[in-house]
Amino acid sequence: MKFTARQKEIIDIVRDYQPITGEKIASKLNLSRATLRPDFTLLTMVEVLGARPKVGYYYLGHHESISQRKESLSMSVEEVMSLPTLVDEQTSIYDAIVSLFLEDVGTLFVTNEGLLTGVVSRKDLLRSFLGGQTQTTPVGVLMTREPKIIKVDKDASVLEATKLIVEHDIDAIPVVTKKEGGYLVVGRYTKTNIAKLFVEMLGND
Ligand code: ADP
Repeated sequence: MKFTARQKEIIDIVRDYQPITGEKIASKLNLSRATLRPDFTLLTMVEVLGARPKVGYYYLGHHESISQRKESLSMSVEEVMSLPTLVDEQTSIYDAIVSLFLEDVGTLFVTNEGLLTGVVSRKDLLRSFLGGQTQTTPVGVLMTREPKIIKVDKDASVLEATKLIVEHDIDAIPVVTKKEGGYLVVGRYTKTNIAKLFVEMLGND
């Protein structure tokens, strides 16, 4: 939220002299109370200022956290991602399941010669188990493969990456950089990253 210079002055005055009446604020600014009325309305509406009858205005301080929240959403996904959990296409279903447990993740990214070729989720593995697939079968057989993979560049914004997760209803996306012949996986952006960010953004209130 962008404030006008006058609104910022009002916020500063209230911060220094709270509680302070509208009249006193107006006299400090050499303006009439009527002139400031729209500013008071806006600042109380967005909860930067609180107003108590007969007492005056006081500072609620939400305007900094509002701008911090916006900043968090424009941060690059690289700043919040986790380390990727990678397996090779030849990895057996058995070893992939072991990796899920050892690395404590729900999604594995599959590579071939270092480049991203697929994604295997825990439900993919459960499905293969129920379908009676032998545990020595390579994950390459059951993974979701390129060009179907939803991925995000490391420089994309957190908001962009979060939208991809929501729109495609998936738990995790590989964070990548483009390389000749494909994509290198540099991280993993998951619903857990989003939940942690949410707490960081709102935890200060
Ligand atoms: P789970 O299957 O454990 O609920 P997801 O909802 O993330 O986990 O996965 C659902 C399906 O989407 C799976 O078949 C999986 O292979 C696929 N999938 C998961 N992540 C991606 C991705 N980033 N891009 C494309 N497909 C994906």
